[in-house]
Amino acid sequence: MSESQSSCSKHGAERACRFDAVIVGAGFAGLYMLYRLRQLGLAARVYEAGGGVGGTWFWNRYPGARCDIASLDYSYSFSPELEQEWRWTERYATQPEILRYLDHVADRFDLRRDIQLRTRVTGAAFDEATSRWAIATDDGARVSARFLIMATGCLSVAKRPDVQGIEAFEGDAYHTSRWPHEGVDFTGKRVGVIGTGSTGVQVIPALAEQASHLFVFQRTPCFSVPARNAPIDPAHEARMKASYPEHRRKARETRAGVIMEVNPKSALEVSPEEREREYTARWEQGGTGFLATFSDVMRSREANETAAEFVRAQIRATVRDPAVAEALSPRGYPLGTRRLCVDTRYYETFNRDNVTLVDVRASPIEEITPRGLRTRSAEHALDSLVFATGFDAMTGALTSIEIRGSGGASLKQKWAGGPRTYLGIAIAGFPNLFTITGPGSPSVFSNAIVSIEQHVEWIAGCLTFLRERAIDRIEATAEAEDRWVDHVKEVADGTLYPLANSWYIGANIPGKPRVLMPYAGGVGAYRKTCEAVAAQGYEGFRLSRTR
Ligand code: FAD
Ligand code: NAP
Repeated sequence: MSESQSSCSKHGAERACRFDAVIVGAGFAGLYMLYRLRQLGLAARVYEAGGGVGGTWFWNRYPGARCDIASLDYSYSFSPELEQEWRWTERYATQPEILRYLDHVADRFDLRRDIQLRTRVTGAAFDEATSRWAIATDDGARVSARFLIMATGCLSVAKRPDVQGIEAFEGDAYHTSRWPHEGVDFTGKRVGVIGTGSTGVQVIPALAEQASHLFVFQRTPCFSVPARNAPIDPAHEARMKASYPEHRRKARETRAGVIMEVNPKSALEVSPEEREREYTARWEQGGTGFLATFSDVMRSREANETAAEFVRAQIRATVRDPAVAEALSPRGYPLGTRRLCVDTRYYETFNRDNVTLVDVRASPIEEITPRGLRTRSAEHALDSLVFATGFDAMTGALTSIEIRGSGGASLKQKWAGGPRTYLGIAIAGFPNLFTITGPGSPSVFSNAIVSIEQHVEWIAGCLTFLRERAIDRIEATAEAEDRWVDHVKEVADGTLYPLANSWYIGANIPGKPRVLMPYAGGVGAYRKTCEAVAAQGYEGFRLSRTR
């Protein structure tokens, strides 16, 4: 398998390239995968549709964008030098700072020479005779690679709302994940925002500070907890940097890839006073640690409702107009079953005179008109529209590529009833293909960087194993995949997640099958499973030699 080939040749107008591996995507996952493949001495090429590296952080340049996992955790752990030298300025870094970090990583490890930007992979077909992938890109090159590694991201395909009249709008329209690089000045403008998920709660306060008037079109209210963002205390940074290896090791063993102090008590066994005290303490700390206030918040509907009611009480205490507070209060789904939002002055924003909440569940959007947006009960004149409407998550980037495996089988067809994978890393019928943070892995239920590093390292280990044994074909068996899919579903059915209409279960995309796509078993337990599979000679995979 160790061909270490990298070559491109031209035949007339046609360019043909050969690599050991092709990686699709140059976000956190693609960059680190390239670094590891280089260490193995493999010739790899990254194709990235965007005009720069960074993935999520290249695309999502909307005002207010930042991570919601503390930056000292939401960062690579693979290089102690990088860990020590990089300085995050805030508890939750802004998008420009995270993008600077990823650009720095690309330069520091000299990755750019193997990354081809502005190139979309449009198709890939597995050739049984050679056990290689034939990859098509939108620049017309014919690319051949032994291994195809999809680092295409869980949240990289934007979803535009399916609202009538969208093309007729005469003002400016923006999707938050395709934000103009030069920024947008909304001063003096009447702006409408559709969407109140994690993106909405970040962009809304920022837009409210600029727009002459901001209309927030809300269909499903979100649960949001304060970020309590602040500059990083140098003493905290020094302590963290002194204990990084141990800290990262512990984080890898947790459920979500971040160390959270989980209160072992049940929300239902403590007194109302103690409950209030605990929720208040977590609310004051800020961030998603709120979910760990009691051990059963994410397990018991009744316990969850105590957390939900606490948040509703905070909304009522913050938002002056009781009708607006009520409209902002989520009901009908458990807290945390749609991604818990983390905000800076989100609820406070609705006290501003220049902000109007439009409840489009009560009065649905009928159409976007050339001059604005019409709901069933009113027409709102708008200069600009901002779509914070989310993504075709987890599967969208994979199914939008024409991927054909053994015998020409189509991935899109295979996944018509929902994604099927082995460990979220491999797919039966699609040999030599790996998915980083694919559906069926903890992925979006975790600190993504912890999950990305684990997958990249597992794949690198697997390729080393194959090389040492001169094996050039690896494929998940259908039986192993069936067992894993059943296990993912069984774990999902034991959680509260299926109770909400979320992008986690595909509910945001019309016609998408209702399947909980991420694995809810926790990153610590999942890592052990992956390690055991490897230790048993890649149990559940069929390994063979072509040549
Ligand atoms: P991405 O960063 O999405 O990169 C994938 C890349 O693949 C993209 O650049 C895309 O252009 C490219 N690509 C896709 N298809 C093709 C193709 N066919 N051809 C060529 N290129 C292609 N996670 C957390 O854990 N904590 C957070 O705080 C957090 N904050 C987030 C904030 C926002 C605004 C968003 C949208 C997501 C956030 N996430 C967060 C999730 C985030 O996506 C991951 O943390 C991480 O950045 C994913 O990295 P990735 O490399 O897997 O994918
Ligand atoms: P999202 O959670 O899917 O939210 C999309 C919003 O748009 C929802 O409120 C949805 O309402 C609304 N919407 C979509 N179509 C609509 C329509 N036709 N009419 C009215 N409303 C419509 O997407 P997101 O906010 O971009 O977040 C996606 C994920 O990215 C997050 O869950 C998180 O994982 C990540 N993210 C993280 C951060 C961070 O803080 N670090 C920031 C941004 C994103 P309905 O629910 O009613 O459909």
